[in-house]
Amino acid sequence: MLQDVYVQQDNTVVETRIKIARIQAHKLANIPITPPPYRDKPNKEGALLLQVETNDGLVGWATSGYTHHVAIDLINKYIAPKIVGENPMRTERIPLLFDRASFERPLGRTLISALAMIDIALWDIKGKMLGQPVHHLLGGARDKVPVYVTHGAAYDNAPVYSPEELAAEAAHLVKLGNNHLKNTVGRQPIPDPKDDYIRMRAMREAVGPNVKLAMDGNLRMTLAQAVELCKRCEELDISFVEEPLYYNDPRLLRELRSKTIIPVAAAENEKFSARDLILADAVDYIQPNVNNDGGYSAAIRTAALAKLFHIPLSHGNGNGPHNIALHAGLSNGGLVEYHFHKWMAYNAIFKSVPQPENGYLTVSQEPGLGLEPKDGLIEEFSVQM
Ligand SMILES: [Mg+2]
Repeated sequence: MLQDVYVQQDNTVVETRIKIARIQAHKLANIPITPPPYRDKPNKEGALLLQVETNDGLVGWATSGYTHHVAIDLINKYIAPKIVGENPMRTERIPLLFDRASFERPLGRTLISALAMIDIALWDIKGKMLGQPVHHLLGGARDKVPVYVTHGAAYDNAPVYSPEELAAEAAHLVKLGNNHLKNTVGRQPIPDPKDDYIRMRAMREAVGPNVKLAMDGNLRMTLAQAVELCKRCEELDISFVEEPLYYNDPRLLRELRSKTIIPVAAAENEKFSARDLILADAVDYIQPNVNNDGGYSAAIRTAALAKLFHIPLSHGNGNGPHNIALHAGLSNGGLVEYHFHKWMAYNAIFKSVPQPENGYLTVSQEPGLGLEPKDGLIEEFSVQM
């Protein structure tokens, strides 16, 4: 096996024989996907697919739903030239090369999201180099993770689901073997807790008492709206409410927790850090998201901090397949989100993607992440920038 030969005292690598040889972010568009059971849209999806190659021929892959040209240019024109030649095993070294820039306003969070994808692809390469699945490299706590299915959201200007449609789709998903569903709340022009309660109640009536139901506020509510929604929904036995409040404000989330028995989850969208949320006693579940916030390397740190505070991890965002390894690998790993529409995009892009079975996803045992793009996909769907 190729290996490092020499590192200087100031930490600059004089020579490494295993090198990152090429990095390319591909913008993919108009990939056909299976629409949700009760809609004919969305039936197409786009994605950013990141390809990292080593000089000995290994390829690591990562993806993101963020396809803005700024992110793609950032990777191809700014990040790639700085890290080509680095050793792919040294994932703690890569962010150091961008430390100053990650605080600068023009780059900021876009840079952190881009570096998250680099980190994911490098962990994929690490696994392939060592012949181990990534969840083993992270600790290998379990081979299956519990999953919940998010559905019922309106996209591409399709009409919002009526309570009856929502209930019918929920019953359909339960018939397929799912035992934990999530729906979005607070999506009205002005969040309407009573309307959301009616929708959640319709779901509960459709699925019976033995299916777990969660709700996701996507950062849209005031404290008063969230308290009203949670108080109304307590009788529906809700498993958790995710990111109900503006900006994930830790002070307000803590206040909400004191007023409801429904567990609170947050950190998918990081305005305040996971550290802020944990230290403020603001959450029952912390939700690191490897695709947005520094990859597996950053999520390991969040998980370790949460473990010290006895807070379990959970997951909420559209990049579920990339978050399976984290939750399978770590002892305080938890639920992974099967976001219906986004999972269909993964199914369309990658050769093999874990699928829910009786409420669980089985993690890939292939070296790396086991998420390999389909042959010819890049040629067929990549868009020139
Ligand atoms: Mg969410």
